[in-house]
Amino acid sequence: MDPRMFFGGGGFGGGGGGGSPFGGMRQRSAPADTQGLYNILGVSKDDDTKTIKRAFRKLAKKNHPDRGGNSAVFQEISKAWEILGDEEKRAMYDKHGEEGVKQQGQRGGHRQKRGPDAKATIRLTLEQLYKGHQRKLRVQRTVIDKDSKMTCRRCHGRGVVIQQVQMMGMIQRMQSQCDHCGGQGHSFRSSKKSETLDVHVPKGAKDGYKQKFSEKADEIPDGVAGDVIVLVDQQPHKTFQRKGDDLYITRTISLSDALCGFSTEVKTLDGRTLIVKSKPGDVLEPTTYEPFADDAEISWDEFSNTDVDGLEDLAKGQLADVDKIKSVLAPGGQLHGKGISAFVIRRGHVIFKKCTRDQAVAAQVSRDGSTLYIVGDPKAGSLGRMLKAVPGEGMPRGANPFENGNLFISFEVEFPAAGALNATAQAALLACVPKKCAPTTSEDDGGVEVVQLVDVDAHKSYENNKPVESDEEDEEGRGGGGQAQECCVM
Ligand SMILES: [Zn+2]
Repeated sequence: MDPRMFFGGGGFGGGGGGGSPFGGMRQRSAPADTQGLYNILGVSKDDDTKTIKRAFRKLAKKNHPDRGGNSAVFQEISKAWEILGDEEKRAMYDKHGEEGVKQQGQRGGHRQKRGPDAKATIRLTLEQLYKGHQRKLRVQRTVIDKDSKMTCRRCHGRGVVIQQVQMMGMIQRMQSQCDHCGGQGHSFRSSKKSETLDVHVPKGAKDGYKQKFSEKADEIPDGVAGDVIVLVDQQPHKTFQRKGDDLYITRTISLSDALCGFSTEVKTLDGRTLIVKSKPGDVLEPTTYEPFADDAEISWDEFSNTDVDGLEDLAKGQLADVDKIKSVLAPGGQLHGKGISAFVIRRGHVIFKKCTRDQAVAAQVSRDGSTLYIVGDPKAGSLGRMLKAVPGEGMPRGANPFENGNLFISFEVEFPAAGALNATAQAALLACVPKKCAPTTSEDDGGVEVVQLVDVDAHKSYENNKPVESDEEDEEGRGGGGQAQECCVM
């Protein structure tokens, strides 16, 4: 078994009939592959270093040889991170692929030195992100007058300084790089200059949106200035919560609102007022779906002695470990998002099929020894995720600012207080809302006990009667005897 088949280069050896995009890559004249390393870590080119680091850590943990992972796979992951985690190497990789990074490494000291990047964070409200935001940002930077070259006063042009260090009773002379001139032997006159950066945050930009100002950080004497990176920090909002392009609000409604319809006012982020009404006759149920909980993993349906015919093979691998295959297809895996909705395991090999779920379901054929996996039906369980929404009243979509996400409303239903419904009201209610729970046994039957519900704090109920921990020292210190102690239950 060699899971390296999954990674990089021509590993995905031309699958069956369909031309694999991974198969037989890189001819001499072909453009360099600048995507493979992103695929290995399951990230996209737009992701920032933090996201890439997170993906790397997750994969490295999962595939670490100390935890039974394959060391070849681990090396691939590490190599991808070594390049994508380094801004310079990553920039070179994006332009010229791995070959470019290799050459950059060989040129070694000859490449131009870059000063450190500077970061600036701007805090923006949801209103500002909704409408888009422009700001002039004043920054102070060191600029260097490159015509003012003068010999370094500290090292007198040698670039190194001799220091006397006392070590273990002996005086040693040590030579080190002059930190005044960075070992250049000369220095320049520098000054502080204030500069204005035009920050432009587009409509619908997300938390963490970045704008880069090339070479606008402090100048350095022996290289180019680093970049100034302006980062958007989205501030929490008192009414709306954001998830992607969707907005969420919570409304508490009364039981009669829930049963008979309701309307509520929502002030939009661009200052409009919406009157939101439920559909006539609609009954609103309390929301159980938690939109801000983690998304569940992809589920797969298994069909034994089944294969599919006529679908495109995207990739093949010499691997039959179902969990590993699933993890490659899961979010963060390197085949995630490649349109694979089915895979077949046959004789120790896996074949990934590029298709939709419906196509895979339709293409099933029975074949002894093959096991088919089809991505789970996304509609199954979606009933619990149904929320009331106002379409198009979410955030502007970054890709198309004329289109918006949705505005979801979660409902909390407030019930009438105890005793609020008198017999007449109850009779009226019963006439239209049927009863559901009624015992089939008569109260008068022998052996039947009639009990009443009361309110109990479930948390306290447990806490107050928690089992005593067995390793706790008894206060009286009866520990001496060899006999097992008996717990004293209050
Ligand atoms: Zn110096």
